Amino acid sequence: MKPTPLYFVWDYGDVDRRFWAEHLEAWVPARIIDSHTHMTNPAHQVGPVTEEMRRQIWVNEVSQPIGAEDAERCIRTVFPGRQVTCLAMGSPSLSFDIEASNEYVRTECLKRGWQSLALLKPQWSAERVAEELAKPGVVGVKPYYSLIGHSPNTRDTYLECRIFDYLPHQALEVLNERGAWVTLHVPKADRLPHPDNIRDIREIRRRYPNVTLVIAHLGRCYTEPHAREGLPQLADDTGLYFDTSAVLNPAVLRIALDCIGPDRLLYGTDNPVFYMRGRRQWQGRAYVNRTNREFFFNKEREAPEVEARYTLYMYEDLKAIRDMGEEFGLARRQVDAIFHGNAERLLSRVLAAKGRNG
Ligand SMILES: [Zn+2]
Repeated sequence: MKPTPLYFVWDYGDVDRRFWAEHLEAWVPARIIDSHTHMTNPAHQVGPVTEEMRRQIWVNEVSQPIGAEDAERCIRTVFPGRQVTCLAMGSPSLSFDIEASNEYVRTECLKRGWQSLALLKPQWSAERVAEELAKPGVVGVKPYYSLIGHSPNTRDTYLECRIFDYLPHQALEVLNERGAWVTLHVPKADRLPHPDNIRDIREIRRRYPNVTLVIAHLGRCYTEPHAREGLPQLADDTGLYFDTSAVLNPAVLRIALDCIGPDRLLYGTDNPVFYMRGRRQWQGRAYVNRTNREFFFNKEREAPEVEARYTLYMYEDLKAIRDMGEEFGLARRQVDAIFHGNAERLLSRVLAAKGRNG
């Protein structure tokens, strides 16, 4: 069959159809909430992605804005026969008009019965945060350290900051009062295990217990050492949640299932980036992305017969979750919890609180 275009340079072809049929069709739940996905209207881009940025990190090279219609079309292609809803957010970068971007995501989500997170400007006053949370369709916020200030040539100027630098107390007070959702991407080159991150997450949980706090990408623990050092430290907090988005590593998922457990994990894709084709490999505290296209980050190519078997990163991710779930003997109910039950429970709690706040 002819490949179907997906997004950017990626398409969906026979390799992917076969992969789905062989590994996923019988296992992926009928209902899915993608609790971490990005949508952006290209018209809201206000600054260019420079060559320097593209070379800095692979994400910059493969991420292109995806509008809501395309996002929906891609979802229908990659999850055949599934009922999928999204918790969506814009691109957390000051290269986009944040206000316009939030409004776009909110209204497009409303049309589809999806929910949205507003990108949080750290400079917003408490009133401004409250105003955003009151809008229909907004269940919470997505803070990000690159929203602290504009730096045209890197997303990492503020990488070493503290969480409270981009998720300030004045915002947290309102988020707590409203019982809102926060998807938190942690800072630091050392990722989740950095002592400041562990301390700050515990402080948020202690001072702002009504916030539904979801740590994005398992705390950016993409490698086994990061997961081993970070996740057990937060294992005891039964009110703290994690999304699995962008984590393709079976060893990390094994640690997450072991110390966080299926009742506190939320499936997310981090799409559109994970429509990329290829596979990821890990060594120590580093990972490398393999793909079949020419990119700056992809200098060391694999053999053509290996590349020919590449499927979408998001399919590799789903298969890793399946493999680890089977290793743990997860019941169907627990798989369903990861794919929609947990997110559904948290969303109804947040929506109930939103209703009470009018
Ligand atoms: Zn993301």
